[in-house]
Amino acid sequence: KVRVRFAPSPTGFFHIGSARTALFNWLYARHTNGTFVLRIEDTDKERNTPEALAALLDGMRWLGLDWDEGPEAGGEFGPYFQSERQSIYEAYLKKLSDDGRTYEKDGAVFFKLLGERYVEFDKYKNADLEKVRSEPVVIEDAVRGRVEKAVEQDFVIRRSNGDFGFHFVNVVDDITMQITHVIRGEDHLSNTARHVELYRALGATPPVFAHIPLILKSDGKGKMSKRESGALIEEYRQRHFLPQAVRNFLCLLGWNPKDESEVMPIEEIIERFDFPAIQKDGARFDEQKLSHINTEYLRALNLETFAWMAAPILTEAGLIDDSLDEDYLQAVLSVAQEKAKDLTGLPELVGFFFNDNFIIDPSARERVFKKGDPLDRLAEATEALEAVTEWNKEAIEQSLETLAEEKGQKKFAYFPILRLATSGQSGGPDLLAMLEVLGKGRVVSRCKGFG
Ligand code: GLU
Repeated sequence: KVRVRFAPSPTGFFHIGSARTALFNWLYARHTNGTFVLRIEDTDKERNTPEALAALLDGMRWLGLDWDEGPEAGGEFGPYFQSERQSIYEAYLKKLSDDGRTYEKDGAVFFKLLGERYVEFDKYKNADLEKVRSEPVVIEDAVRGRVEKAVEQDFVIRRSNGDFGFHFVNVVDDITMQITHVIRGEDHLSNTARHVELYRALGATPPVFAHIPLILKSDGKGKMSKRESGALIEEYRQRHFLPQAVRNFLCLLGWNPKDESEVMPIEEIIERFDFPAIQKDGARFDEQKLSHINTEYLRALNLETFAWMAAPILTEAGLIDDSLDEDYLQAVLSVAQEKAKDLTGLPELVGFFFNDNFIIDPSARERVFKKGDPLDRLAEATEALEAVTEWNKEAIEQSLETLAEEKGQKKFAYFPILRLATSGQSGGPDLLAMLEVLGKGRVVSRCKGFG
C-alpha cells in the first residue's frame, strides 16, 4: 500500500513550490488509494514557531489537501513532529554506531561512507580510496529515470550541539513511517544520494523516488524565489483567487495531461495523475494561465456560492451593508457573474449597481459622444422607458424597438448612451438585463440626471 508524505520545515510562509510538492503527494495518495502523511520537520527551533505551523496548515486546508496522518489527524506512526522524535533518532544512531558506520570528529558525529563501499563493492577491496569514493549512487527515479550521483564525503548526522542533521532524521522518519514513495523537488536530488547510502547502512530498502521539476519564473530565467509575485499561497487568498482554481493551476505546474486539458475537475486529475506524465524540465509559472483558470471556475460556480464569496468583498469595498435587499444583491450578481474575470475586480464591475454617484469613465464618454449628439437620443429613450409599465428585459427591449422604428433608427443606436448614463461605463453586463436589475426608478433618474 502506497504511503507518501509531505515533510515541510515551516517557516511562516507557504511557498508555491512547497504547495505543489504537497499537492503532488496528495494526488498520488488519492490516485492509489494510499495514505498521505504530513510530517513536520521542525528541527530548526528558531524558525519553527506555532504561527509558522498555523500558516502551513491553513494553506493546506485552503487548497483542500487533507492529510490522513499527521498533526491534528494523529496516526499510528507518530509523533509527526521531528522535535518529538528524539528517542527514535537516538536508537537509530546507536544502531549505525554499533555497526561501525559512524565516527566522531570535533564533537560531531559523522556517517562513514567507506565501510559499506567495501562490503557492497567487493571488487574494490584493494582499490585506492579515491576511486571507491567516487563510485556514484544509482537512483532509479520515477520521473527522471536513471540518475547517478556520487557522494563525495562522509557527512554529519549529529552536530556538536547535539542536534541531528537533516539527512539522518529525514531517512529515519521515512523508514519508521514506512514511506513507500518520496516525491519532492528536484533540488533534493543530491541529498537523495546520501539518503540512499543511509538506507543501505541501516539495512532498509530505499523508497521509490520521484523528483519533480522546479518552478521557474515566468520568463523561464531562474527559479521562482520567495520574493516573486505569486510565490506565496497567502497572496492568492488575499487576491481572492478560488482555491479550487489555484489547485488546478498547481497541478499543471510540472504535470501534463498530454491533451492540452487545463480546467479539469479534481476527480479527473486524481484519476489521471501518475509519474510518467510528470515533466523533467522546469515548470514555468504563468500568471495568465492562472487568471484564465480562475475565471473559468468563477463562472462555473452556482449563483449561491458566487454570492457567498462575493458578498464579503463588496462589503469590504464599502458597496453594500446589512441593510441591502438580498434579492437585489442576488439579481446584480446573476447578471455580473458571466462578466466577472476575478473576485478582486468585482467591486469595479458592479459598483454602479449600488452607488448612484458612480464615476463616468472619461474615455467611455468620449467614445459615446464622438458619434453625434447622444443627449437627444437619451432624452427620447428616457421618455420611452418611463412609459414602460411592466419592468423587465423584454418590455424594455420592446419599448426601445418601437421608439427606434418611429425615429427610423436601430434600437442599438440607444444602447451606448443608455449604458453610459446608467453605469458610467462602455462595457459590462448585458445592457437589457442590467437595466432590468437596476429598476425603473434608478434608470429613469440616472438618465434624467445625466449631462
Ligand atoms: N524538510 C525538507 C524540505 O522542506 C523535506 C524534504 C523532503 O521532502 O524529503 O525541503
